[in-house]
Amino acid sequence: MKDFGLYIHIPFCSKKCDYCDFVSFSLDENAQKSYLEALCREIDLVKDKYKAITFSTIFIGGGTPSIVFDGFFKALTKKLYSCFKFSKKLEFTIEANPHSLTEDKLKEYLSCGVNRISLGVQSLDEQVLDTIHRTQSPKDVYHAFRLFKKLNISNVNADIIVGLPNQSYASISRTANYLKSRVQHISVYGLQLEEGTPLYRRVKSHELRLPDDDMVADFFQKTAKILKRTGFNQYEISNFAKPGYDCRHNQLYWDGSNYLGIGVAAHSYVDGTRFCNTSNFNEYINSLNGGTLPIKDSETLTPAQKREECIMLSLRTSKGLSLKEFSANFNENLLLSKKEQIERLIKLKKLEIKNGYLKINEGNQYLSNAIILELL
Ligand code: SF4
Repeated sequence: MKDFGLYIHIPFCSKKCDYCDFVSFSLDENAQKSYLEALCREIDLVKDKYKAITFSTIFIGGGTPSIVFDGFFKALTKKLYSCFKFSKKLEFTIEANPHSLTEDKLKEYLSCGVNRISLGVQSLDEQVLDTIHRTQSPKDVYHAFRLFKKLNISNVNADIIVGLPNQSYASISRTANYLKSRVQHISVYGLQLEEGTPLYRRVKSHELRLPDDDMVADFFQKTAKILKRTGFNQYEISNFAKPGYDCRHNQLYWDGSNYLGIGVAAHSYVDGTRFCNTSNFNEYINSLNGGTLPIKDSETLTPAQKREECIMLSLRTSKGLSLKEFSANFNENLLLSKKEQIERLIKLKKLEIKNGYLKINEGNQYLSNAIILELL
C-alpha cells in the first residue's frame, strides 16, 4: 500500500527573510494559542473522513515551527495521536530555524515522537545571511549541531540555497563541507526570485546582483559533487541522502501518493483531488470557530493532468518513471507515443532506460525542465 502523509503548517516567523513568499506571519503568543485551537478544530472536523487511514509520515513545516511557545507541539501531537492512526514506522519531521532552536524545544519534539529534524541552514556565510536578512548566524547552526550530538539526534536534514546574492563557490563549498559529515540528508534549492518580495525589488533596482544562471548551475553541480563523494545519493534533483535516509514524506509528493494538509495555506491531494486551505490567517481562524473547514480551492485532476504530473515528478527522481506503471495507469506506451524524442534524448545521453525505468542521465538533472518538456 502507498504511503499517506500528513502535513501541518505553522505560519509564524519572527521576521520575514528577503527572498520569502511563503505564508508566514509575525504574531504573538495569543495568536499562536488561537492557531493551536483552530488546528485542533480542523482535526476534529476531518478525523471521521480519515479514520480508516494509517498515516505513514508527518511533516510539520512553516513558517518557523521552532518559534512557537513551549508546549505547543505536546498539545498538538496529543490531539493528532488521539484522532488519527499512524504507522509503527512513522517518519515524523519537524522544520527548525537554528536561531530559535533550544535544548528544551528539541526535548519536547523527541517526547512527541519526532524522529527527523529539518534545519533551515541556507548558508554558513555571515555576509550572505546578512544580505538576505535571515535571522540566524553561522554560530546558531554550530550550536544546533552541538545540541543534536548531545541529544543523540541522528536523522537531520539541512536545507541550503544556491544562487543567493554575494554567494561565491568558496562560500557554498564551505557550507557543504561543514554539513556533509553532520547530516544524513541535504536539500539544495536554487534561489527563486519571487515577485513582490524585498529581494525582488532590490535586484530589480540594481541594489543587489544575483549570480547568473550558468554560475548557479555550476555551483549546483559542484555542490552535488562534494555530496556524492561523501556517500550521498542524489535521489531527486534537489535532494541528497545517505543510504537509508531518503525522505519518505517528500517521496509521496513525487510518486502521486495521497497527503492531507492541516493549517493555514496547507495543500492536500487525496484520491485525485487537490485542495488547499485559505492563506488568510483571520479567515482560517474564523471559519473554524464557526465549525466550517477553511478550504479555499479544490480541483479534481483530469487524466491528462495526472499524466503530465506523473512525467514531471517521476523524472525528477533518480529512480525515474516506471514504463510499466505508466502504461497501466494511462493506457499509453510512452516509448511509442514519444518515440522520436526519447530516441534522440538517449542518443544525446540525456535520457536512459534501465530496468524498465526511463530516467534522466546523471549529470543532466539540472537540465531536467527542458528534457521533461519534450516528453509532455
Ligand atoms: S524563516 Fe522560512 S518561512 Fe520564515 S520568512 Fe524566512 S524563509 Fe520565509
